[in-house]
Amino acid sequence: MIDQILSKVNQHGAQLVAVSKTHPMTKIMEVYQSGQRIFGENRPQEMLEKHAALPGDIQWHMIGHLQTNKVKYIAPFVAMIHAVDSLKLLQEIDRQGQKNQRVIDCLLQFHIAQEESKFGLDESEAIQLLSSLDYNALQHVRICGVMGMATFSDDQQLVRQEFRQLKGIFDRLKARFFAQNDQFKEISMGMSGDWEIALEEGSTLVRIGSLIFGSR
Ligand SMILES: *Cc1c(COP(=O)(O)O)cnc(C)c1O
Repeated sequence: MIDQILSKVNQHGAQLVAVSKTHPMTKIMEVYQSGQRIFGENRPQEMLEKHAALPGDIQWHMIGHLQTNKVKYIAPFVAMIHAVDSLKLLQEIDRQGQKNQRVIDCLLQFHIAQEESKFGLDESEAIQLLSSLDYNALQHVRICGVMGMATFSDDQQLVRQEFRQLKGIFDRLKARFFAQNDQFKEISMGMSGDWEIALEEGSTLVRIGSLIFGSR
């Protein structure tokens, strides 16, 4: 399965985040042996344990909602934090980046689904954040793009429309805030149920768990 996924992901010039949350290290190592290096987790402590035990060339992506008091566990090594949805969280990531003398790559999470969710910005909130002096003072975070989750639905048109909305947000933020910034290039969208639609709509990072590792 992973070979099929990878060939399609590569065709689109995108990258695969193999979502290994809840899965044991032996299973991660099987996928690692096939060449995969980017793995996604959603719990800081679980990511920390796996990072400590598994090969050092794995790039660990934090894909889930992150509480500010947990940033410190992953700040020394995390490759990318996908779900940043407040200035407060970004400031804590910056603080921990400074402590660890590194710049931490982040994505801004947007709420694009119809489902109610506490998480994710809307476009005007993102514009406000990116325009603020507080954000512009940060030196240890780098915003590399956007992330979102479509509605969990069989309605492919709805899902496609939501991905298109996220791509539109990306394009407008790129033009307004990141036109001179080559790092701002990622659109993290697509999971086991909708990754092919996401690729068609411009995803650069698909986050796939159950299709690779089996159901949790
Ligand atoms: C668990 C998770 C995924 C992967 O979900 P699957 O349906 O198993 O592919 C992707 N993104 C986020 C944010 C997740 O929490």
